[in-house]
Amino acid sequence: MQDFVYAPQCGRVVFGRGRLATLAQEVDRLGAEKVLVLTTPGQLALGQACAELLGPRFAASFPGAAMHTPVNVTEQAMILVAEAGVDAIVAIGGGSTIGLAKAIALRTDLPQIAVPTTYAGSEMTPILGETRDGIKATQVSQKVLPEVVIYDVDLTLALPASVSGTSGMNAIAHAVEALYARDRNPVTDMMAGEGISRLMAALPVIAREPADLNARANAQYGAWLCAMCLGAVGMALHHKLCHTLGGSFALPHAETHTVVLPHALAYNAPNISGAMAVLRTATGSDDPAMALYELAGALSVPRALGEIGMAHGDIDAVVNLALANPYWNPRPVEPDRLRAMLERAWAGAPPLQE
Ligand code: NAD
Repeated sequence: MQDFVYAPQCGRVVFGRGRLATLAQEVDRLGAEKVLVLTTPGQLALGQACAELLGPRFAASFPGAAMHTPVNVTEQAMILVAEAGVDAIVAIGGGSTIGLAKAIALRTDLPQIAVPTTYAGSEMTPILGETRDGIKATQVSQKVLPEVVIYDVDLTLALPASVSGTSGMNAIAHAVEALYARDRNPVTDMMAGEGISRLMAALPVIAREPADLNARANAQYGAWLCAMCLGAVGMALHHKLCHTLGGSFALPHAETHTVVLPHALAYNAPNISGAMAVLRTATGSDDPAMALYELAGALSVPRALGEIGMAHGDIDAVVNLALANPYWNPRPVEPDRLRAMLERAWAGAPPLQE
């Protein structure tokens, strides 16, 4: 046992079936009276359901959330915030919607209630990545951490099997990198191991039967644990690469995490013996990187960057961008090794541990 610092980040968590029904109660607990409801254009019905639950507390809705939190979308929402005089925000949806709420909270310090419907985990972190002119910049501020998170298992039943798979692998990625973070501690190790095993068990069941309630509850619980890891400790090569691929090459967030994770883990494997021991238990495999690659295969989700829109000719640009801002990683990030890894990830080849 080594010395450590653990700083809990999350606010109030309400977990279980049908918990969206407590929305008005949670708004009242915050003392708010004029609520802005955020969704993506695809989740209008959920926004409508929130408006009905809020009754007189509902002030306005903005169904324009978009992936990677573009600043111009936030600016549009800010006009509504001012016009409607809102005093709290409800974000119902995936990381894109929650990102928009965080961007508004950064500018206004308004309290947020996040109702996640994917496994991305943004609701548990003080991190906000915003995109301006094609460049994604990340900042950390306690202002963006939601005050309340409602995990309603029922809301995940409609999450399509493919999005469930990629989103679940996105959650696993947070826990994998937490296991070798410099500032990891016994609490995050425990959450990471448990989060990964819950998701590894639940995701294949969800791929076969998306409405399996038990698997859905386990996946959401696992995703919450993984998200707390993301909020608590620093990330490394995997998240930095995905950040570059998403922000500068417009690749879809969860799919990118799904493809890159086995390769990033294989890259770091020689230098992270402690994390690999936990991962062998959590994945039930002697080769955790291969287990994650095989999981993606079992979930029928993309395993190649070429498959999700990256041009082969962009590999060098990704390497250059990834090396432009040095960051800590358990294994030094070397251009040739990184290029070889990206070649494999681009083609969808199995991860190779060197
Ligand atoms: P998303 O929010 O973009 O959702 C993907 C799509 O699925 C959207 O069209 C959405 O409308 C739809 N959807 C969501 N839930 C659904 C449901 N239950 N049923 C049917 N459709 C549903 O994707 P995401 O992967 O959740 O989030 C990605 C974004 O979150 C990225 O911008 C990423 O940078 C950000 N993110 C941030 C953090 C952080 O800590 N700051 C962490 C993770 C992700």
